[in-house]
Amino acid sequence: MTIPNTEPGPAERPGAAPAARPAPGASVDGGVTVIGAGIVGVNCALALARDGHRVTLVDRLEPGEFCSFGNAGILSVWSFVPIFGPEVLMNVPKWLIDPKGPLTIRWTRLPQILPWLLRMLPKASTAHIKHAAQAMHHLTADCAENYAKLAAEAGAPELVRLHPVLQVYETEAEFEKTDRDLQFRATYGIKYDRLDRAALHDLEPDLSDRFPFGHALLGGGTAANPGRLVKVLAEEFRKRGGTLFKGEVRRLRQLEGGGVMVETDAGDVRAERLVIAAGAFSHRLSRDLGDRFPLGTERGYHAVFADPGVRVSHAVGWKARAFFATPMEVGLRCAGTVELAGHDAAPDFKRAEIIARHAKTMFPGIKGEMTSKWMGFRPTLPDSMPVIGPSDRVPGVYYAFGHQHVGLICGPATGRVIADLVQGRVPNFDISAFRAGRF
Ligand SMILES: Cc1cc2nc3c(=O)[nH]c(=O)nc-3n(C[C@H](O)[C@H](O)[C@H](O)COP(=O)(O)OP(=O)(O)OC[C@H]3O[C@@H](n4cnc5c(N)ncnc54)[C@H](O)[C@@H]3O)c2cc1C
Repeated sequence: MTIPNTEPGPAERPGAAPAARPAPGASVDGGVTVIGAGIVGVNCALALARDGHRVTLVDRLEPGEFCSFGNAGILSVWSFVPIFGPEVLMNVPKWLIDPKGPLTIRWTRLPQILPWLLRMLPKASTAHIKHAAQAMHHLTADCAENYAKLAAEAGAPELVRLHPVLQVYETEAEFEKTDRDLQFRATYGIKYDRLDRAALHDLEPDLSDRFPFGHALLGGGTAANPGRLVKVLAEEFRKRGGTLFKGEVRRLRQLEGGGVMVETDAGDVRAERLVIAAGAFSHRLSRDLGDRFPLGTERGYHAVFADPGVRVSHAVGWKARAFFATPMEVGLRCAGTVELAGHDAAPDFKRAEIIARHAKTMFPGIKGEMTSKWMGFRPTLPDSMPVIGPSDRVPGVYYAFGHQHVGLICGPATGRVIADLVQGRVPNFDISAFRAGRF
């Protein structure tokens, strides 16, 4: 499914790497084949190419055109605690009756999403949150520095900005609640400053004075253009000998002598080893191999003000409204919120309009209307952790998907783990929590 968006098309965007275009019906020998040229798949492909493998990266779109295109660009070492926990669960009723709230359900889609939702409920416990945080912090650690290095090596250092990320609150109660949560994260080495209205004003003079409280979260940064970052890394992959293959994967077929045939609408790719990193649609591919995953999607939206007329120097998150306003190459991108509507419903761009309205409340000086809007599919498993590891059924098949709200952040660490597994190295942290067979 191609997501309609009103941002410039691939041809207009700089940094797009050309994809292989085989004659219809042709098949190629893919070597180690990665399906999915989002931020996760591109990181996997690049790490594998660095290890000297012959790698083919398959996608129906140009790199970075799907969920990894329009995110908020936050590179946060502190985002290892699942969002879906006891506090969110308590707020769900309140949010669902607020039409401008951070969460909405498309009720007509409830029958399709209910089984997935029911599997999420038991995972909203404090015990699970602690378990997931312990596993996930290895994926988020050093993410901003890692990207800074990757972007610099790829010749585009301007794509990663290292700076504090701000979170702002209207009430002291919200501030103190988040502060308690940050104290837990501090046990993992997370650093932050508490900010009052004056400190917020010094950092962001154009921020509304309705926010008397804030935090500055340290040790992270932002991607100046997440979609272009994927393209630049894909181009780096290509320079290192990798091949981009453009085609929609229709079926996966296990081969008798080993390997998997990746059947696409542009010809077949014979994968000696296969990595499935197809984001929110990975489960539709894995089931051809007999691996079933309860993969759902938390859809999110963005609104961009190309020329907002306000100065915003940091990414600023309005926690209660669940979005970030991030200064980017494309203007001020305001991205976030969650819509539960499954994989096949059309976007509801009223959700982007709501974000745009909240952005104007946050920065009252924003002039004009949003200049583009977008919807993306976050890939979410019921326990808010990705699958990173081998298939239990099919030798030589690996999974790397389900990174929900933090796929950009976790990309480099995921790529390294996949490269380790393919190479037969032991990853440098415990990945058992991410195993494929846990469902
Ligand atoms: C509004 C919003 C804000 C967000 N903000 C942040 C943030 O600030 N920081 C952060 O870390 N994360 C953020 N996220 C989450 C992040 O964007 C995702 O976790 C991440 O993009 C997932 O990357 P991916 O590579 O797994 O999936 P994708 O980017 O979706 O890539 C999957 C690829 O697989 C391809 N594919 C799928 N099926 C097939 C097929 N059959 N044949 C061929 N190709 C196929 C697709 O075309 C696509 O290119 C945000 C998400 C949203 C929606």
